[in-house]
Amino acid sequence: PSNRTRLIAGNWKMNNDVAGAAKLADELACALPEVPEGVEVVVCPPAVDLTTVNDRIQAAPIALGGQNVYWEASGAYTGETSCDMLKSAGATYCIIGHSERRDYFHETDEDVNRKAKALMAAGITPISCCGESLEVREAGKHVEFVVDQIKKDTEGLEIADPSKYVIAYEPIWAIGTGKTATADDAQEVCGAIRATLVDVFGAETAAGIRVLYGGSAKPGNIAGFLEKEDVDGALVGGASLKAADFAAMVEKA
Ligand code: PEP
Repeated sequence: PSNRTRLIAGNWKMNNDVAGAAKLADELACALPEVPEGVEVVVCPPAVDLTTVNDRIQAAPIALGGQNVYWEASGAYTGETSCDMLKSAGATYCIIGHSERRDYFHETDEDVNRKAKALMAAGITPISCCGESLEVREAGKHVEFVVDQIKKDTEGLEIADPSKYVIAYEPIWAIGTGKTATADDAQEVCGAIRATLVDVFGAETAAGIRVLYGGSAKPGNIAGFLEKEDVDGALVGGASLKAADFAAMVEKA
């Protein structure tokens, strides 16, 4: 319903070694020789697979993204990947603040905010994740919780081009569980996110920022989410590991 370019993003998580990534990338390039007008597609493989996937998707209208980044430019940060490293591997997007990173690796809103600033300074588009736990949802505090995350995650950000900053709303209870939020649930929170973005950045910028839904999105349910005013695409985990499913979702976008 909006005129924002839709974004379908695949999060491969910790799946696929180099050979597996090459195979899936080839299948995707073959399944998506073109994408519908007004739709953008990005795949986010593990860091060790980035260059391999980049080589394989060159001819396809598929962009490349990282799953995480560290904000320092270089140096003694064992195990980390910088913005310039992602860029040199071909990435133009990067997921930050995924709930798995917040839960298992103690990533905070302050970290997410620093990562967003570093990525944007490097010209990489963040896909900044937010979302509430089941406990928060059951207490009826989900809107309040996510609005607070958005305020912290966007603090001091300067957005020159709103198409280059993306938010993904992923209710944690719907990730990898097969339990999806309803399209109305997604719109409730995505609408509140948009209203918060209006407060933080002003109406014009807020109108250009893509807000994705994520959480057990699949070919059979994606259309319902995308009908909603403030849902501009999907962040897809499980279903992004099967080329046919991911391609079917892109075609429905
Ligand atoms: C995700 O973790 O980004 C995600 C949406 O996973 P799934 O689609 O598997 O629920």
